Amino acid sequence: MSNLFDFDCVIVGGGAAGIGMASVLQEMGMTRFAVLERGEVGASFMAWPEEMRLITPSFTSNAYGMMDLNAVALKTSPAYTLGTEHPTGSEYAEYLQVVSQYLKLPVQTGVDVLEIIPENDGFRLIHSDGELRSRYVIWAAGEFQYPKLDSFLGAEYGVHSSLFSSWTAVQGDECVIIGGYESGTDAAINLSKLGKKVTVIDRNNRGLSKGSSDPSVELSPYTKDRLRAEMVHKRIHLKQGFEVKWMEPDEAEGFIIYCENESGDSHLLKTSQAPILATGFHSSLRQIEHLIERNKDGHLHLGAADESTITEGLFVTGPQVVHEHLQFCFIYKFRQRFAVVAKAIGERLGLDLTPLEVYRQEGMFLDDLSCCGEDCTC
Ligand SMILES: Cc1cc2nc3c(=O)[nH]c(=O)nc-3n(C[C@H](O)[C@H](O)[C@H](O)COP(=O)(O)OP(=O)(O)OC[C@H]3O[C@@H](n4cnc5c(N)ncnc54)[C@H](O)[C@@H]3O)c2cc1C
Repeated sequence: MSNLFDFDCVIVGGGAAGIGMASVLQEMGMTRFAVLERGEVGASFMAWPEEMRLITPSFTSNAYGMMDLNAVALKTSPAYTLGTEHPTGSEYAEYLQVVSQYLKLPVQTGVDVLEIIPENDGFRLIHSDGELRSRYVIWAAGEFQYPKLDSFLGAEYGVHSSLFSSWTAVQGDECVIIGGYESGTDAAINLSKLGKKVTVIDRNNRGLSKGSSDPSVELSPYTKDRLRAEMVHKRIHLKQGFEVKWMEPDEAEGFIIYCENESGDSHLLKTSQAPILATGFHSSLRQIEHLIERNKDGHLHLGAADESTITEGLFVTGPQVVHEHLQFCFIYKFRQRFAVVAKAIGERLGLDLTPLEVYRQEGMFLDDLSCCGEDCTC
């Protein structure tokens, strides 16, 4: 069967998830696989605003059995490679490129996967240079390159935070940011540092408050530290609990934004600059929507080994992976599923799975999800 295919497995995307996943397939002894990347390795990280840094800290803790939180492959550490705790996007892309080159991973850059067609117990992939066949596909195309530009009426008049290469590009001395999670708060901190007055409209009450201990819903300590330090200058105004309903351009004022809170209080805000949208991301899964299943609340529904429940042989890895209440949206979370996916594919290909044992020892093999959840009590 395998010989019908050009590859046993193709990974789509050469970001943190794709490079980490590839390192596990290689460790397991797979030889006929490829990573197809439309840009360069780490392309999404390279597109981050230059001031933005990873919120999860890196530390050279590997030797004592605790892998660097931002490492994607065994025996590697961004803290060691880059010599910094909170790398910028470009620095982190450099780490991914170093890992890819050091391990000699079979990455093909400049190859954009356009369509995945299930056929003959495998897949035909149409890409920018032609087509190929693979027995298995692992989708690792991320979210960053798919910004949400349709969250409310008139959202198209704003500029998405992911489209800024630097916050120095923002004109004027005041601006409004819609969305107060990590991207929005980071933008506010950096714009305040540039001396601008910033209003952050957030439907939640995140800010400096203490709620969940899950950083998927709460601002990280790194962001809270920086926000606290910047709030002293009184340039950041957090408008919490308000949801933007619509926005429109106005000849006299620039832009008018209408928002409401749950009690029915409403506000009209006026701003001369195009508001910044920190409203999150759609997912690259849009490209393969017909091959995956979603549950009633719209979340991706995956099998136990992160395989599509309606397309056998198609796996998903990275921040899109979700199982009930668990979101694998950070590197230290989703990297623990690489070995789970590798095992499912390795078993079917008859590969020796012994090399995967080391992943369990290193805390990189999370197949029992009952152990996870919020567990900070003080
Ligand atoms: C603003 C922001 C800040 C974040 N900060 C952190 C943080 O501090 N710590 C943390 O752990 N997580 C953080 N995250 C979470 C984030 O999800 C991950 O860090 C990481 O980017 C996800 O890696 P990935 O490989 O899945 O996606 P990406 O890094 O986006 O990689 C996907 C790759 O696939 C390629 N690609 C996409 N479509 C195709 C296609 N059709 N064909 C070929 N190639 C394709 C892209 O070019 C890209 O290189 C942050 C996320 C965002 C949006």
